[in-house]
Amino acid sequence: MLGWLLALLVFLVLVVYCGLPVLWTRIFHLKAYRRLRDPKRVALTFDDGPHPVYTPKLLDALAEQQVKATFFIVVQRALKCPDIVKRMKDEGHEVQIHGDRHYFVPFLPPRATAHQCIGAQMAIERKFGIRSDVYRPPWGACNLATLMLMRRAGLRMCLWTIMVGDWRRTDPSTLVRRVVDRLHGGAIIVLHDSDVSFGAEEGAPEHVIEAMPDMIRSIRSRGYEFSLVSEWL
Ligand SMILES: [Zn+2]
Repeated sequence: MLGWLLALLVFLVLVVYCGLPVLWTRIFHLKAYRRLRDPKRVALTFDDGPHPVYTPKLLDALAEQQVKATFFIVVQRALKCPDIVKRMKDEGHEVQIHGDRHYFVPFLPPRATAHQCIGAQMAIERKFGIRSDVYRPPWGACNLATLMLMRRAGLRMCLWTIMVGDWRRTDPSTLVRRVVDRLHGGAIIVLHDSDVSFGAEEGAPEHVIEAMPDMIRSIRSRGYEFSLVSEWL
């Protein structure tokens, strides 16, 4: 009997701590922003970087098209290539938080959860002098501690409305078509500039970079302007 009660208790704790926050944010879109307030704008966002090879190439492609984007960075990866983060900042992109490491947050205890959001925020400020105020947890999944901690740290959670499976090696024209098919005012598009996260296919960001000029032209030709997410959440 005691065993069953304990199992029930553990189950309830898991539901409240891990399950409900994921439902709130991912399914009901509460406590998380998914689109920009201005229907004439869209945002390009890149998760999982910086990567020493792909991110500089991506920054070149964005500079060529004169587009500013939002980078949700992983701190431990950024520390290995600080010049790239500096370049993002110098070129007018925004640097926001994806985590200290690329962990699945829902099962982390509160202290480790804090390290992934507030700890990452502090590290970015300390190392790069950048005050980040937007957080996107890996796979968009958080727990109850995240929601409580974010409030305290003045962080807003940002998810997305357009995701196109770019973590798999995908033909650039397919990536462009998928984005254009789903395009809408206020869209937040998530792409990836690294292939080292769990589930990512090696070399996938090459296709993302190759898709950039066409993707940007197609979005502009439909009358949308590019914006940084923090300005229009
Ligand atoms: Zn990620």
